[in-house]
Amino acid sequence: MSEKSVILVTGGTGLVGKAIQWVVENDSTYGKREGEEWVYLSSKDGNLIDPAATKAIFEKYRPTHIIHLAAKVGGLFGNMAANLDYFRDNLLINDNILHHAKEFGVKKVVSCLSTCIFPDKTTYPIDETMVHLGPPHDSNYGYSHSKRMVDVMNRAYHDQYGCNFTSVIPTNVFGPHDNFHLVNSHVIPGLIHKCYLAQQNGTPFIMAGTGRPLRQFIYSRDLAKLFIWTLREYKEITPLILSVPEEEEVSIKQLGDAIVKAMGYTGEYRFDTSKADGQYKKTASNKKLMSLNPDFKFTPFEVALNETVEWFKENVDSIRK
Ligand code: NAP
Ligand code: GDP
Repeated sequence: MSEKSVILVTGGTGLVGKAIQWVVENDSTYGKREGEEWVYLSSKDGNLIDPAATKAIFEKYRPTHIIHLAAKVGGLFGNMAANLDYFRDNLLINDNILHHAKEFGVKKVVSCLSTCIFPDKTTYPIDETMVHLGPPHDSNYGYSHSKRMVDVMNRAYHDQYGCNFTSVIPTNVFGPHDNFHLVNSHVIPGLIHKCYLAQQNGTPFIMAGTGRPLRQFIYSRDLAKLFIWTLREYKEITPLILSVPEEEEVSIKQLGDAIVKAMGYTGEYRFDTSKADGQYKKTASNKKLMSLNPDFKFTPFEVALNETVEWFKENVDSIRK
């Protein structure tokens, strides 16, 4: 990027948006560069489901670049309860952002997909070529299909209008500023909150499912660095997986053990196997990422989990829950 750029981060108040802000303000390698103005949007700046509100935001800020994070986001149980809402809200938000990015001549957009959008029945590890090769898992088909359409739109905007719109595919994310709701959250924030309550109330700490599913977790601040790197350096329209290595995949049982340790929890804990497991695994390859950015170092999982737990404890009275 050269000259003055206005980088608009949609969803700037969420888990990933807050991490991007942290990196922009604190990191010497990936942080703010001369001539850059960063703008972090929340839903209070305008509902991106609404085309008129979206247009007003573009008129106000005149972005040259966009990191597009805003989305209706939830864990397994939130998705299972509302596939239609996840489909429609995200489809409309994404269409509004990309349409106005084209209309206002935005130079580059990096949108955010997710590894849960990959086919459920597939071979492993999953790579970037496999996004459209079969139906996604049934639990979150609404969210998954809406996110897949971003890749279709990116390709079509490029083919028809020469737009430089691309996307990244992160694995499960966690970190400070996550949504710690007890039902509509992802597994790490949900379990940190449940473990905290179990400790406070002297009740058992109960995790959902069998504990057997496998997940790759990326720390939000690592993901934020990679997002900024993608905005500055990645040249393709096709998506890029942003993931820790395959060897760092852990079971939900291992995750539960790590949370118990990080929280210093000493009580009883067990699984409620009547609750859903969701997708068994979605092991993704980070080979393409590492071939393009070979020096990138991920924060060790235990360090990242401890930082997240510390943030949770310091902010427990004001967290999203
Ligand atoms: P999050 O913490 O729930 O934050 C969502 C953000 O989107 C918030 O800033 C929210 O604004 C904004 N937003 C939601 N609906 C909006 C609307 N209708 N109009 C305007 N803004 C709206 O989500 P996140 O975890 O940071 O997720 C960021 C991106 O990463 C999403 O695209 C998500 O699909 C993707 N992703 C997340 C994960 C994960 O594990 N969390 C994994 C893979 C991919 P308010 O704060 O004002 O509500
Ligand atoms: P997913 O990766 O899209 O399935 O998203 P989640 O982060 O919601 O769930 C991951 C796994 O954690 C699933 O196998 C769940 O059954 C399991 N899990 C265990 N306890 C919880 C919990 O309290 N909340 C959530 N969301 N998942 C849980």
